[in-house]
Amino acid sequence: MLQIRRDLVDEMVAHARRDHPDEACGVIAGPEGTDRPERFVPMTNAARSPTFYEFDSGEHFRLWREMDRNDEVPAVIYHSHTATEAYPSRTDINLASEPEAHYVLVSTRHPEQYELRSFRIVDGQVTEEPVEVVESYLFSHTGADDVPDS
Ligand SMILES: [Zn+2]
Repeated sequence: MLQIRRDLVDEMVAHARRDHPDEACGVIAGPEGTDRPERFVPMTNAARSPTFYEFDSGEHFRLWREMDRNDEVPAVIYHSHTATEAYPSRTDINLASEPEAHYVLVSTRHPEQYELRSFRIVDGQVTEEPVEVVESYLFSHTGADDVPDS
């Protein structure tokens, strides 16, 4: 499951709308070991294409180095589809190289509403996962152990 703050969802959707009809892409970094997306980093789609995205190689390199220094991981890797559903294309699957990441797709094919879905992509296998949008991570429990017994 992907648990994600509403403001980060809004940022992804706004980025996708801004770059429409080209695909938008980016990363939400999170502290290592938490699986919690926190730091929104919009990236440049070097392909500037309505059907394909590719991180700008310089930005990609710098961001991964920066995350390494900050003990962060790419918790979410997102991109938009501008004319099709929010489901990974064959190319997306072939290029997915982060088995720990949540691959989030936003579709902007409808001007008034968006679709947002999340997937794990491991060894070419796509698994959709539920998305829980929360106002804050502060009050969300990680498990039943957080709840007092009485
Ligand atoms: Zn795609």
